[in-house]
Amino acid sequence: MKILLIDDDTLDRMNIIRTLSKADASILVTEASEANEGISFAEVTSFDLILLDYQLPSSNGLEVLKQISDTKNNNTAIIMLSHSDDDALALKCIKNGAQDFIKKNEISVSRLMRAIYHAQVRSRIEEQLRESHEKLRKIAQIDALTGLANRYAFDKSVKNTILLAKRQNHSLALIMMDLDKFKNVNDTLGHVAGDTLLQEVANRLTKVVREEEIFCRLGGDEFAILVHCYQGVKEVKGLINRILSSLKEPFTLENTPFVISASIGVATFPECADNAKDLLKCADIAMYRSKELGRNQAQFYSKSMHNEVSNRVQFELELREALKNDQFILYYQPQVSCQDETLVALEALIQWQHPTRGLIGSSEFITVAEEIGLVNDISLWIIEAICVQVKQWNLQLNENVNQIPFPITINLSATQLDQDDFVKTLKNLIEENGISPKNLELTLASNAIKYSSDTINSIEELAQIGIPLGIDDFGGEYSSVYQLKKSPFSILKIDKSFINSVNNESQDNFIKAIGLFAKTLNFTTVVNGVENQFQATYCKSQSVDRMQGSHIAHPMQADEFKATWLDFK
Ligand code: GH3
Ligand code: MG
Repeated sequence: MKILLIDDDTLDRMNIIRTLSKADASILVTEASEANEGISFAEVTSFDLILLDYQLPSSNGLEVLKQISDTKNNNTAIIMLSHSDDDALALKCIKNGAQDFIKKNEISVSRLMRAIYHAQVRSRIEEQLRESHEKLRKIAQIDALTGLANRYAFDKSVKNTILLAKRQNHSLALIMMDLDKFKNVNDTLGHVAGDTLLQEVANRLTKVVREEEIFCRLGGDEFAILVHCYQGVKEVKGLINRILSSLKEPFTLENTPFVISASIGVATFPECADNAKDLLKCADIAMYRSKELGRNQAQFYSKSMHNEVSNRVQFELELREALKNDQFILYYQPQVSCQDETLVALEALIQWQHPTRGLIGSSEFITVAEEIGLVNDISLWIIEAICVQVKQWNLQLNENVNQIPFPITINLSATQLDQDDFVKTLKNLIEENGISPKNLELTLASNAIKYSSDTINSIEELAQIGIPLGIDDFGGEYSSVYQLKKSPFSILKIDKSFINSVNNESQDNFIKAIGLFAKTLNFTTVVNGVENQFQATYCKSQSVDRMQGSHIAHPMQADEFKATWLDFK
């Protein structure tokens, strides 16, 4: 056993050495008569035990104890020796790193050996605690799924690296990456496949990231890389290209090839921000911009981007509030018969009465609503408001008619049909308001019709209830004759581009052809976008059924419609 004895009193030292020599153990004692000498010994040699006198000349006992505790090997136990029998002092020493405290006049071989034994046991326990604490600290910094550093560790690294970069005048680049439409993997292949994909992505990225760069999974499907000593945009662009290319090769999930892309945002220190929190925020804003611009790309943060993104975030917040605060208004635009110009249907159009920006048209917010998952709630709001409106109109009609004799057409979002309880909710609304299913007409944009089993089931159920179904933008880029054959649609709304190209100088024959084609198959056709007399006359001369547009009637609120178009009691 190696013991370091630090005591300025030669007699005390001799006494202790004599006592130790009686012990039934082989003990090697190194003596030091002052604090600094003892500290130097402790620095170079690993002792099993240090016996430290509390009253060393020109030294504060606790200070020396702290220094020795910091210097000594973790397995070394420390026992304080003192002539004092002050219990509070003994406790202070224990709190400051000593394992025991012995009064010098109580020193005997058995007391000393017992203290040595206990001190060593305590020291070992402390060491084990330190080790498990260290293990826990490491675990707390690692992402269990991928084995990469986690957000906690990354935040710490970014903070420290920024401090260092400030001192050394270095630049840094923070790259944030979020997988595109990752939720689809969970939704279609399950959470386990999603986990596998995250692990595979982490593996691929580990191969393209340099060792000195800090790479982590921030959480979910979000990863981040901190580039030390960033040399310029070219270097980061190179890394980004490597990242995006590494994802190009399909992953294999459930024995099926699966392609996923990522959106990236980059912010640099010190140009974009001078602290970790803001740098992360800037990279996040740039990443968000990549998503907005169509995903599968990288954007570098800029001040103007900041303004655009905060405007967009504000817009999203306000849109969510709009639904809660009843700020949407319905407008109705009549569709008339091409034969006699009588009212045959009404298209419902939603507008947002914004408290400060005024009236906002649906084209300005529906895409945002789709992106933030609000569109189904808005569609339901529209359907509910229409059912209530139809009920009111029915009650106010002329005594000879108890039901408005035309449908109100509503454009549905594609995702609406995938909602489990959509058809049931719609049925309930029809029943609660005592209206006929024929008073509603649901249209789907042709690019929105997916042939998943949920969609097909919903379309068929809606047709069975008796709700007429239509396809919007027919003849446009995404429509197909297959769609008409596959599902029970009965109305075709002809893509606006066809009527737009009809004027007194040029007329192609597309509307004519689509009208004849639709008639043969018993579809009702609607020409939307009729803006002048020439186009209206043209429609009347073709085999199309309904027309709608600013020339026929502008969109109007319920009261105006009631006053001008309905025959009430
Ligand atoms: P976007 O292109 O807008 O990023 O769409 P996204 O579908 O990727 O959506 P987003 O990034 O907002 O959400 C990521 C999803 O990842 C949310 C959550 O359901 C899922 N997720 C989060 N953590 C885990 C995980 O540990 N394992 C799996 N399988 N999925 C996770
Ligand atoms: Mg994502």
